[in-house]
Amino acid sequence: MLVDSGECPRYRSTNSTEVMAKEKTKPTIEFEYAAENKFVAALMELALSEARLALDHDDVPVGAVVAHLDSGLVIAQAHNQREQLNDPTAHAEIIALRAAAVALGTWRLSECLLVVTLEPCPMCAGACGAARIGHVVYGAADAKAGALGSLYHFGSDPRLHHEYPVTGGVQAEAGGALLSEFFAAKRA
Ligand code: ZN
Repeated sequence: MLVDSGECPRYRSTNSTEVMAKEKTKPTIEFEYAAENKFVAALMELALSEARLALDHDDVPVGAVVAHLDSGLVIAQAHNQREQLNDPTAHAEIIALRAAAVALGTWRLSECLLVVTLEPCPMCAGACGAARIGHVVYGAADAKAGALGSLYHFGSDPRLHHEYPVTGGVQAEAGGALLSEFFAAKRA
């Protein structure tokens, strides 16, 4: 196994799952076609399952997966734990990026793909840049906080030190439905 992300003690992150073996698809992702890529679709399914786990502790259901672009191995998967940990930075993406870096033994994640069910906020999109992420795929757009297309374009701002390709809208309905159901139940 490539990875054991259990060394990040505070944060829950499961061990690697070989999505590639199951899906029999190549991880090679052309930016323009990422939305139709079966590997990306399988990773988004995994991210959606992670998002559902956040409901167990009343956290906003957002899930994220970091996978290695060459091997197709899932390096880390995580969900939002802000309420559970009383940690304003415990967004799914931050937890997954940190766990992936620990597992790979490097903060540089240029060989990795981050897949997340909701468009990353400025903190998470900034963390993707700091990690030199290879590619980010997200589901639902976030009109109130999205930093990869909605409010800001952190992935393609030449003033920032790292630009990265971004693909949005992958299984956006599923990611968005989880959120609207969660907030509707809160209001009820
Ligand atoms: Zn965030």
